[in-house]
Amino acid sequence: MLPAKIVYSSHYSVRLEHHVFPTEKYQLVKEQLIREGWAEACDFLEPGLPPRELLQRVHQAPFLDDLEALRLTPRTWRAELPVNRETIDSALYAVAGTELAVREALRQGVGIHLGGGHHHAFPGHAEGFCFLNDVAIGVLSALLQGARKVAVVDCDLHQGNGTAVIFQRDPRVFTFSIHEEDIYPPKERGSLDIGLPAGAGDDQYLSSLEGGLTKVFKADPDLVLYLGGTDPYRGDKLGLLELTMEGLRRRDEMVLGGCFTRKIPFVTTFSGGYAVQIEDTIELHAQTVRLAIDLMKRWPR
Ligand SMILES: [Zn+2]
Repeated sequence: MLPAKIVYSSHYSVRLEHHVFPTEKYQLVKEQLIREGWAEACDFLEPGLPPRELLQRVHQAPFLDDLEALRLTPRTWRAELPVNRETIDSALYAVAGTELAVREALRQGVGIHLGGGHHHAFPGHAEGFCFLNDVAIGVLSALLQGARKVAVVDCDLHQGNGTAVIFQRDPRVFTFSIHEEDIYPPKERGSLDIGLPAGAGDDQYLSSLEGGLTKVFKADPDLVLYLGGTDPYRGDKLGLLELTMEGLRRRDEMVLGGCFTRKIPFVTTFSGGYAVQIEDTIELHAQTVRLAIDLMKRWPR
């Protein structure tokens, strides 16, 4: 049995017709971790539904009303997902999931969430497959539990635009995003943004990341929320970065290993991943989680 729980919900995998977002990945990563012996069924913890009060720390009431009523409105349609009980529940459980993983991290050093990372959600509207910003809600939860400074390290292919806007005027939060520059979304200003050109591969990515992480750690966070999106992968449908599987493994190692050596508690979340071969997306998320489990076991207690 692992020293801390891995947060996961069976509500994350929803039925989407002809959609690029492979929501079955959540369940498949969980099954792979069990099959490989990295975790047992008893290591997983399912979040409950979050109270509205938790959502209201970030999101505005008219938007939450639309979601509650399952209404397709200018506030909800930009998620580019159907608005139904399944998709909204998935978003709700993911908020509670990241919040739970934050609690595990503050208690045990490492919080692992097999989901979340919905960084395109804004206070008043959904965007880019994201209804609710679980990352921002997790950050605020950490601050309420006594964290002094929290850093978001967003390594998804796409800029964490919603998260950047939410914390633009909050000196307690350092938002770092490294992403492909000339694709969705229109860029917002975070604490630190690195936009890479199409075609950038392992070397360019990892040297840029190294420079970015130096600044993140200099900000002296006492918790890091990591978005280990697998869409910078060269086999991804949504972008033109050219990272290899080994390059993405080194990326995870730089971020999570960097936290570990400095004894900064961290939380991992999934965010995006749209490889041509779904097996690649599964393996890439699994390699992030395997590293996090390894560091969890070695965390001094
Ligand atoms: Zn993405």
